[in-house]
Amino acid sequence: MGRQQQLQQLKDGSIFDLIVIGGGATGCGVALDATTRGLKVALIEKNDFSEGTSSRSTKLVHGGVRYLEMAVKKLDRVQYNLVKDGLRERGILLKNAPHLSNRLALITPLYRWIDVPYVFSGLKLYDILAGKRNMGRSRLLSRKEALRRFPGLKADGLKAGVLYYDGQFHDARMALSLALTAEQHGATIVNHVAVTGLIKEGGKIAGAELTDSLSGESWQLRAKGVINAAGPFVDQVRLMDNPAAPKILSASTGIHIVLDKRFAPPDTGLMIPETEDGRVLFVLPWENYALVGTTDEPAEITEHPQPLESEIDYLLRHVNSYFNLQVERSDVKAVWSGLRPLVSDPKASDTAKLARDHVLEESADGLLTIAGGKWTTYRKMALDTVNYALKLFNFSAAISTCQTESLPIIGSTDFDEKGDLELRKDYGFDADVAAYLNRTYGDQAARVGELAAEGYEARLVENHPVLEAEVLYAMRHELAERVIDVLARRMSLALLDTEAARKAVPRVLELMTRELGWDQQRGEEETLLVEQRLTEAL
Ligand code: FAD
Repeated sequence: MGRQQQLQQLKDGSIFDLIVIGGGATGCGVALDATTRGLKVALIEKNDFSEGTSSRSTKLVHGGVRYLEMAVKKLDRVQYNLVKDGLRERGILLKNAPHLSNRLALITPLYRWIDVPYVFSGLKLYDILAGKRNMGRSRLLSRKEALRRFPGLKADGLKAGVLYYDGQFHDARMALSLALTAEQHGATIVNHVAVTGLIKEGGKIAGAELTDSLSGESWQLRAKGVINAAGPFVDQVRLMDNPAAPKILSASTGIHIVLDKRFAPPDTGLMIPETEDGRVLFVLPWENYALVGTTDEPAEITEHPQPLESEIDYLLRHVNSYFNLQVERSDVKAVWSGLRPLVSDPKASDTAKLARDHVLEESADGLLTIAGGKWTTYRKMALDTVNYALKLFNFSAAISTCQTESLPIIGSTDFDEKGDLELRKDYGFDADVAAYLNRTYGDQAARVGELAAEGYEARLVENHPVLEAEVLYAMRHELAERVIDVLARRMSLALLDTEAARKAVPRVLELMTRELGWDQQRGEEETLLVEQRLTEAL
């Protein structure tokens, strides 16, 4: 269903069961869970789906080897359970969205013999905790084998490596696909509409005020319950409910840089277990490039955090100390920053205690806030939130058990790992294009193929598999409303290679102008906005 029809459903006076604020991992997950339990749901996102933290993650589906280390060192049951939950959810995500996720081999390089038994036994424990959902047995690699698998690795002083497996996924398309799957099950989903206030009746929340940021129009939407899943912005929404509400959230930024594929072989990532400030750092293969991240710096809460040169230097310094290839600032193809929400649990006994898990908070007037957690556990967070909402808002007719454990995400039902062969045969695509379309759209890839066959088969930029047909598909079937929605989230071009994205802008603008009937002023606004995002912060 198109945006206008979705908006119409929000304006026709009907009362929804739930309004979910925020179209990131958390909000899209909650919307899907609630819809599949029979509730009438409106998912409201003020920018684009996953335009917040959810498109700027490291893209790992993992239990977190570092959390496991802390669990063991400090005999911490909460950390231990987080790892277990993460590993269980990892298996479920890979099963329900196989086209958007894959198993990834990771090497931990070891430069001191003393670290070998420690790291190896830790990763063995990781295997054991994953149980039947384990993705492959961890094993020790000789120095020679580690260098063979990851040729860029610095050989000097290398003693051995440990190989282990985790999951990798396409975060931006995953959030979008959760929203689209919710829509298939009956939810109304809109992007570029902000919740600008909350409506109360008899002292209880009874809906929200909405503003369409594309048209400027505002109106009220009634609902029996409102869920605040606004990520780093949960406190802003809590203030709409209670202007005296104390903050529960602070934030730190994490940046990623993208380098060319010389820095990561196509099938293996690198996990550097301890950086100069005691953190974990990843160098991962991602869409034919190498993704390096991340950092951790206290930050202001802003929609598009700007990466700092000092953060970029930090990552380059680590790459240089672990690689036999010299890397320079000019090698960085793209850089972007995401906000890590750090939530303090209002119920915790010692004040300002940072929650290591997600936190659910119910306000006096009935606003339900869900905050914290990580991408990998979005489904478990959604399950807990909807279970809570059923009682809080008295939805006795809804299905009480969660339906999402084996719910296919859009694109996965008839996904075939070898579907690229058919795409090549049916549409004459080059091998790289067919493989890319198959893993990006899953069983929907042929629909993009059909559009390509209508004369939109050209690549948007040389040496990239992205097609003009995808721009049409994004507008017609994936609610893309702005040029940057297409370039940064329907496809990952802007996050992979800023210059390539810049080259694609004129043609994307032309296609969108024609399809959506934009006037000159709108075209100019789009050009300005996309340039600003590509130059300053995605
Ligand atoms: P967001 O994605 O920020 O979504 C909140 C949304 O709410 C935004 O889109 C925003 O526009 C919208 N919103 C706000 N206010 C309003 C309003 N008034 N009206 C309407 N909409 C509103 N997790 C992993 O599992 N694996 C990883 O590899 C990983 N890597 C990470 C790396 C970094 C650097 C960071 C920062 C985090 C990482 N995480 C990872 C964690 C994960 O990305 C986050 O936990 C997750 O994306 C948070 O999703 P969210 O929906 O809560 O927030």
